[in-house]
Amino acid sequence: MDLEYTAEERAFRDEVRNFLRKELPDDIAAKVAAGKELAKADMERWHAMLNARGWLAATWPQEHGGPGWSAVQRHIFSEECALHDAPRLVPFGLTMLGPVVIRFGTQAQKQEILPRILDGRDWWCQGFSEPDAGSDLASLRTRAVRDGDVYVVNGQKTWTTLGQHANRIFCLVRTSTEGNPQAGISFLLIDLDTPGVEVRPIRLIDGGCEVNEVFFTDVGVPASNLVGEENQGWTIAKYLLTHERTNIAGIGFSTKDLARYHALAATMRRDGRRLSENPLYAARAAELEADLEALRITNLRLLATARDGAAAGIGSSLLKIKGTQIRQDLQSLFRSVLGPLAAPDANGLADAELAVPADAARAAAAYFNHRKLSIFGGSNEIQRNIVAKQLFGD
Ligand SMILES: Cc1cc2nc3c(=O)[nH]c(=O)nc-3n(C[C@H](O)[C@H](O)[C@H](O)COP(=O)(O)OP(=O)(O)OC[C@H]3O[C@@H](n4cnc5c(N)ncnc54)[C@H](O)[C@@H]3O)c2cc1C
Repeated sequence: MDLEYTAEERAFRDEVRNFLRKELPDDIAAKVAAGKELAKADMERWHAMLNARGWLAATWPQEHGGPGWSAVQRHIFSEECALHDAPRLVPFGLTMLGPVVIRFGTQAQKQEILPRILDGRDWWCQGFSEPDAGSDLASLRTRAVRDGDVYVVNGQKTWTTLGQHANRIFCLVRTSTEGNPQAGISFLLIDLDTPGVEVRPIRLIDGGCEVNEVFFTDVGVPASNLVGEENQGWTIAKYLLTHERTNIAGIGFSTKDLARYHALAATMRRDGRRLSENPLYAARAAELEADLEALRITNLRLLATARDGAAAGIGSSLLKIKGTQIRQDLQSLFRSVLGPLAAPDANGLADAELAVPADAARAAAAYFNHRKLSIFGGSNEIQRNIVAKQLFGD
């Protein structure tokens, strides 16, 4: 594969850049740059602008409203978005449920669900994990019992990201206890305003509330909300997870952060010289830069052969492990650039040191928030097991 962009790809990159410079609202970009929490309205506004341009659902085929981009174009688009401080697209409808409905849904489900994701009428969230069913997802216990034309659902989901904004949830539910645990799981769509559903926030270590618990008590769900066959949920979930993992490498975010820390290190002085001239800092930064470059090339290589926009085989696991590791390492680098200024409590600092860079105040919260990256989407330990199993067998 040729790793240089073609003239058409460079022209496409310019088109994306021009669009972002002209259309991305300053107030939203400023919040993203400062690492501030976005309001639901911010995310909806940005989705609507991309939808109007036909650029929202990058991985969907054109017949369903996708832009018809190649894998390289998708990569260029997401990298440019990150470099220009555009918000990360909310993935649950766009990159998780959408491809599942396109692959496994009925015609009626495609017609009903896909346009509502595009125009923002539905905000989906993901109900896979449960207490005692995270890595060991097949042990999930939320039960759906068929009663005529409805499934009656009882159980609990946890860690439901942005569920507080959602009106619908796609769930894995147990429809059979026969055979092995994977064989009795189904993929069910549930409206969150159905009687018997309760969403409760979980407060995180960084002070935010981006995840929730969801409880189901005798919730009646139309049987037509089943995606695929009954008990086919495990196959569908595995398909969905390759899309989820391919998209969490966050290469654009890492590229932007590294450039920002380089600029900061060039202005900060420690022990009488610029931090960028400190050999220890320079070595750590260079190592991260090399890792990021290797990841970028691996990503392009895998995307060139990607099926339906997701890296095949162990590719999505590799991107997830390495991409999230780099993003976490960058947070550590940032904290060491800031040194004592990264302390959440500035009481111990001398007055002269209180002129801190604007984002220093958020360094600790961002560091702790980034711990989640190696856990969600299937923890990195589990991804390593998947890679080892594929390479070396059981
Ligand atoms: C911020 C955040 C957002 C999330 N959002 C969602 C969401 O929207 N929807 C959703 O369904 N889920 C979500 N999750 C859940 C996430 O997918 C699970 O947390 C993850 O799969 C790990 O499961 P667990 O938390 O039960 O940990 P456990 O499975 O209990 O694992 C605990 C530790 O043991 C390790 N471990 C477990 N088994 C093995 C093994 N066999 N070999 C080696 N190591 C092992 C794990 O890697 C981990 O380090 C989210 C999680 C977080 C933290």
